[in-house]
Amino acid sequence: MFNAPFNAPFKARLDLEADCASCCGLCCVAPGFAASADFGLDKGPGEPCPHLDDDFCCRIHARLRLEGFQGCVAYDCHGAGQKVTQQTFAGRDWRAEPEIADQMFEAFMVMRQLHEQMMYLNEGLKLSPPAPIRRDLEMQLEDLERVTGLDPERLVEVDTAQSRRTVDGLLVRLSSHVRSRPAES
Ligand code: SF4
Ligand code: SF4
Repeated sequence: MFNAPFNAPFKARLDLEADCASCCGLCCVAPGFAASADFGLDKGPGEPCPHLDDDFCCRIHARLRLEGFQGCVAYDCHGAGQKVTQQTFAGRDWRAEPEIADQMFEAFMVMRQLHEQMMYLNEGLKLSPPAPIRRDLEMQLEDLERVTGLDPERLVEVDTAQSRRTVDGLLVRLSSHVRSRPAES
């Protein structure tokens, strides 16, 4: 969660890094949090954090740790926020159009899972796996990318637990290959 105005142009790409300037503050609204060492208050799902400003910036961005919100500093949507805002909902936002809010938040929670899985696959590819594993990682990455382009109605129906199991299986294969590599001298 960062602090940036909601007005920057969005560039469609395989973007696995948050671009808060192109997002309507979805991580500050969609998930629910119980007060803890990481988040200083109780907040229900779909309830805007009281620190979220009208322009979708965080009012306490400069002092998140001091105020007891270090979880916000560590949080990463892996690019899900701007994709839901700009691609799935074509630049609309939940505040201007409350009637789309529930679906937008639900879509964000699904997209967040998909982007996290894509991030893991992408990191796996950086380890230069052998061709069969590389091919399967790339195929799954392409499949997930395609799924993230679904319209809101279909996106919220996606079974992220199933894709998580597939990704976990691939990463286990990759991990056992990496561990069996001879150590570099
Ligand atoms: S959902 Fe992602 S892009 Fe949007 S404000 Fe949060 S961290 Fe930034
Ligand atoms: S404290 Fe700031 S960054 Fe954290 S949820 Fe609230 S508005 Fe978002």
